[in-house]
Amino acid sequence: MAELKIELIAIGDEILLGHTLDTNSHWIARRLVENGFRLRWQSVVGDNESDLHHQLKRAWKRADVLILTGGLGPTHDDITRPVAARFFEDELVDRSDLREGIRERFTLRGLEPPAGYEQLAQFPTGAEPIPNQHGSAPGIHYSRDGRELFSLPGVPIEMRGMVDGYLLHHLEVWREGVFSCRILKTTGVGESHLSELIGDPGALEPVRLAFLPSIDHGVTLRLSHVGDDPDAVSEVLGLAERYVRDKVGKYIYADEERSLEATILDELRRRDWKLALAESCTGGMASSRLVSIPGSSDVFERGFVTYSNRAKTELLAVDEALLNRYGAVSAEVAQAMAEGAHLRADVDIAVSITGIAGPSGGTQDKPVGLTYIGLADRDGTDVRRFRFSGDRDTNRRRSAQAALNLLWQRLSE
Ligand code: ATP
Ligand code: MG
Repeated sequence: MAELKIELIAIGDEILLGHTLDTNSHWIARRLVENGFRLRWQSVVGDNESDLHHQLKRAWKRADVLILTGGLGPTHDDITRPVAARFFEDELVDRSDLREGIRERFTLRGLEPPAGYEQLAQFPTGAEPIPNQHGSAPGIHYSRDGRELFSLPGVPIEMRGMVDGYLLHHLEVWREGVFSCRILKTTGVGESHLSELIGDPGALEPVRLAFLPSIDHGVTLRLSHVGDDPDAVSEVLGLAERYVRDKVGKYIYADEERSLEATILDELRRRDWKLALAESCTGGMASSRLVSIPGSSDVFERGFVTYSNRAKTELLAVDEALLNRYGAVSAEVAQAMAEGAHLRADVDIAVSITGIAGPSGGTQDKPVGLTYIGLADRDGTDVRRFRFSGDRDTNRRRSAQAALNLLWQRLSE
């Protein structure tokens, strides 16, 4: 079993200069994995003929499949077509069929083709054009020495159309090994604790286990495996997944397809419960995450952004005496905020967040990162204390995540 060695080169000064985030490479990497392939190497080069030539040379020695994205357009900085032709000691000729095709694209819409469009019909003699469903520039497909090169445009929609409509079908033909992975998303548990609970990863052999921590989505576990036969790969992964679920199942809220937000909303819907949030330091972040899911209005009743003490008193009926005695960031106030939201919004469950995001405002007793989350429902109120240690943005995001995590835990009881 030999896995295809696939290399990707993204081309464009705009990426190297930090003007454009290289989302094309990210998208291609994911799309390949979804289809049982994976990238072996990835790089970025600028709009520079000799740099691209050198990079092609290097990649062509080691990769079975080389994917390029960017620089296929008609302007002088689009160099991929001539560089690819020169690399294969090929020449560009005018392809009247391509020229007419491009012309027709414009005339069908009642438009004149733009100046320089003929450039796009200058095509290498030894390559196959890749149809472009969403734009003018055809992609370029070279097959040489048992290797393949696919040169795709940089415009994301055009590139994606060619990957889905052309490249993946062609890769299937040379497939030898199937790469597959399972994603298990966890929340409310750190990476090191998860690793301890799962134990020696050797027990999962031949499956590989990776821990992917993030601020907003907890720690994602990825199980991956390569084999000859898709069914056998799936079976082996299934065994490993059961093993992992056995050890840490209570922290797993979803597989790849579902976010924590969606999981929470579904559970609320199942119970026919309404939810309200009362947020201080997160300023509506947790509410916003829930509202980003379509259909959240079924169960999300309202969010209070009660940043000042006055707002906490006016909107959530938090007793001023509590604020004076314990301070806004305290277990007592978190409890009062959750209970106030529960009552005022007349919902089944309410969650409150109050914390010191920083960078200033911390004291010896109440350091930056100190956060209390309250959770009130018909059975009473729980308050949990957290001590985060990031910058302002990280502390706020972790607070929102901790609130959603507690909510999910309560709902999955
Ligand atoms: P065009 O015909 O528009 O010139 P092209 O194939 O030459 O297409 P580029 O000039 O490299 O493509 O890029 C066109 C636009 O596509 C860029 O301005 C940028 O917005 C986007 N783009 C290019 N490369 C990437 C990338 N790697 N990730 C995300 N977007 C990209
Ligand atoms: Mg361009």
